[in-house]
Amino acid sequence: MTINPFESAMSQLARAAAKFSKKDAAKLLTLLSQPQRIVNVTIPVTMDNGHLKIFQGYRVQFNNARGPYKGGIRYHPQVSLDEVKALSFWMAVKCAVADLPLGGGKGGIIVDPKTLSAGELERLSRGYARAIADVIGPDRDVPAPDVNTNGVIMGWMLDEFMKAVKGKDKKLRSTFTGKLIKDGGSEGREEATGLGGLYVLQAILKHLKLQGRLTAAVQGFGNVGYNMAKFLAEAGFTVVAVSDSRGGIYVPEGLSPTLTLQCKKKNGYLAGCYCSGSVCDLKKGKTITNRELLELPVDILVPAALENVLTRENAPKVKAKVILEMANGPTAPEADTILYKRGIPVVPDVLSNSGGVTVSAFEWEQNLKGAHWTKEAVNRKLKAKMEKEAGNVWLASKKYKTDLRTAAFIVALQRILQAMR
Ligand code: NAD
Repeated sequence: MTINPFESAMSQLARAAAKFSKKDAAKLLTLLSQPQRIVNVTIPVTMDNGHLKIFQGYRVQFNNARGPYKGGIRYHPQVSLDEVKALSFWMAVKCAVADLPLGGGKGGIIVDPKTLSAGELERLSRGYARAIADVIGPDRDVPAPDVNTNGVIMGWMLDEFMKAVKGKDKKLRSTFTGKLIKDGGSEGREEATGLGGLYVLQAILKHLKLQGRLTAAVQGFGNVGYNMAKFLAEAGFTVVAVSDSRGGIYVPEGLSPTLTLQCKKKNGYLAGCYCSGSVCDLKKGKTITNRELLELPVDILVPAALENVLTRENAPKVKAKVILEMANGPTAPEADTILYKRGIPVVPDVLSNSGGVTVSAFEWEQNLKGAHWTKEAVNRKLKAKMEKEAGNVWLASKKYKTDLRTAAFIVALQRILQAMR
């Protein structure tokens, strides 16, 4: 069964709006039922064989009541307009939960980047930047990396954008965040989503009074999943499983994320990378499917790959005590209800992965001010923000007697409403 992510997003909105007065709920449901702008672009790319190929891309600008649109650019074969709409809505909520002076946007291209050569990838990225150049800028819309995009791609896009707008002002470099440090990127941006997730988790675990040496399973081993696994292990959690699109590994004694990544890079896949301590040994672990990973008997389950992986089918089988959503939209609404009834708290994406956009906002601020903060300063500011906003969401969940997602939405929607008055 395919779940439409925008429908999921709208049902989350409806659930939170029901906690507002009739007048405010009607306003929220009307103004946030559609994005303010949808930009639909076709990007012609000359492939290495000399043939022209057209790629379909989107930039969705959902809401800018609190500031310029902000959100990543995703390259994936399953990108769809509804997915980008949902992700842009979640960005508006996320920036408000993190209390950043930014709205919500998102972009995407329907492409499997693994099938492109380096040159094709660069031409596609530059073509996309040219196609959306008219609607982005430091005080309009500030894109960043997402699934399958990174600092190198942001560098190409920024370069192309500067050419397209004939920009000379250095401040225009703040149009893209998640850049490499040499292009004006912020210290700490690459690992910010994972580190922010750890701070949020630690704050919520304190409230839940869950302590001791807790075990964790992480789905996804990309930027977010790998960093999350690494920070969890460094903070004393036992990470017993990780996975990528080809499947996962289970190492009951606890794996070393750093060694596992090295092993995966060497072999090209995770299977067999049963690395703990300082060695990888086939006897230490086994391969598991992504489905099995989600149902492991662990304390903390971290979906950090794609959306809708927790569904009404597997939610009854989840054994984790807490779910920390690091991917965007990993829990379908029906699964949310099941998990809530089962007493399993779901720390929602709009809070737990907001560390990434928070340091993106720091990057934007540094570029606008012509400043460059140290990694210590960035991480200190990130920690303070994550702990404060996790506390606000926790308080709202108690005040409104509701789950953490609805509580986070209430906090965000109150702030968005305030800005729309
Ligand atoms: P990435 O491309 O670096 O990594 C994605 C990972 O997911 C890879 O390990 C990939 O193998 C795995 N994956 C893909 N399909 C899968 C499947 N069907 N089953 C299991 N694993 C699968 O992307 P990322 O930046 O780590 O983003 C991951 C998630 O986190 C996305 O939902 C993204 O929107 C969200 N997110 C990212 C950031 C950020 O700063 N990068 C910030 C907030 C949220």
